[in-house]
Amino acid sequence: MRLKRWIEARQMALMGYVTRIIIIETGLSDKQVRRLYEEIDRDGFKLEKNRTTRTTRSGATLLLNQTSKIHASLLMQLYRQVGGESVTTSISIDTLDRAYRMYQALLCELAAIEPSVRNAAFTISDAWCLASELRSNEAMFDICSNCQCSYFTSQNQSTAIGCPFCYEPPNRSKNKKLEETTAIEN
Ligand SMILES: [Zn+2]
Repeated sequence: MRLKRWIEARQMALMGYVTRIIIIETGLSDKQVRRLYEEIDRDGFKLEKNRTTRTTRSGATLLLNQTSKIHASLLMQLYRQVGGESVTTSISIDTLDRAYRMYQALLCELAAIEPSVRNAAFTISDAWCLASELRSNEAMFDICSNCQCSYFTSQNQSTAIGCPFCYEPPNRSKNKKLEETTAIEN
């Protein structure tokens, strides 16, 4: 049993989870996780920086604008697709890993067309935080009455509650004019 938790924690560390989440999911102590990092380091694997952050994030800091809501919608749709309805009652690390790999593959394709898509990309720890909100009913999927798309929405989000696919910024015409002018200047 202890070995199983150790292996699970090791896989999570290599996937890039922050310490706090590894502790929550595996029940290992802070000290044990630090020992695990040393072991991984000795084995010659490089771990992400900033992994020791104590806090986990929520919709309030992850869903800041409509672009991040589109990212959350893509990622969490994949998660629900892989995990089925069980994702509303528990977090499955295996399911999350699979969904996250699909999300990364998708971003890779999109970045070939629009490199800036990577700027708003979520980390695996962010994905876990969104999954955690989904499980605790703080977040859900809504269906847009306009475009019929399903999108991820959280009680804690710091952005408009509507569909991110249909969203038009209030001063869009002004921005558009600005874009056209810059396009000509360039
Ligand atoms: Zn819509």
